[in-house]
Amino acid sequence: MPDPGRSTLRRTVEQHAKGRCEYCQSPAKYSTQRFSLEHIIPRSQGATTSLDNIALACQGCNNHKYNKVNAVYIVTNKLVALFHPRTQRWQDHFTWDERFELIIGLTATGRATVEALQLNRPELINLRKLLYADIEQVLREKKPFILRCMLDGIKKRQGRMVKWHRFALSVSIT
Ligand SMILES: [Zn+2]
Repeated sequence: MPDPGRSTLRRTVEQHAKGRCEYCQSPAKYSTQRFSLEHIIPRSQGATTSLDNIALACQGCNNHKYNKVNAVYIVTNKLVALFHPRTQRWQDHFTWDERFELIIGLTATGRATVEALQLNRPELINLRKLLYADIEQVLREKKPFILRCMLDGIKKRQGRMVKWHRFALSVSIT
């Protein structure tokens, strides 16, 4: 039987996260795997399953994070705390590149988290390309095809109009 406390916790966390992984920002509705309720500070370090320690995480981020709370920041070669979704704001530590394909760390915590959780995994980049593709760019790339379809549609309509005119004429003549 599902634990009612657990399902309430999941609902609350999902609402707070707006249905997105709180690390890579992937929307849960486009994932084939159910997102995890991730312990930000692992239970093995004495933390509890409470709202201030649970984040919504996709399977990839959850797997990469595992029980880490720190990671090496390669610029200083020192351990820094990983991003904490409950006490820190995503936009203070990360941003997107201009194509919305790559997450860029703005701070030591942001950069260490991008590396440790591999927030720019190839499958994530593919998903972002599909979700946030510049529609104008797509139209530019597909323009000859779209123009051909439009012209075909116009020709078909013209063909129907000609047939209709012929029919109307034949009716009015007889
Ligand atoms: Zn994720």
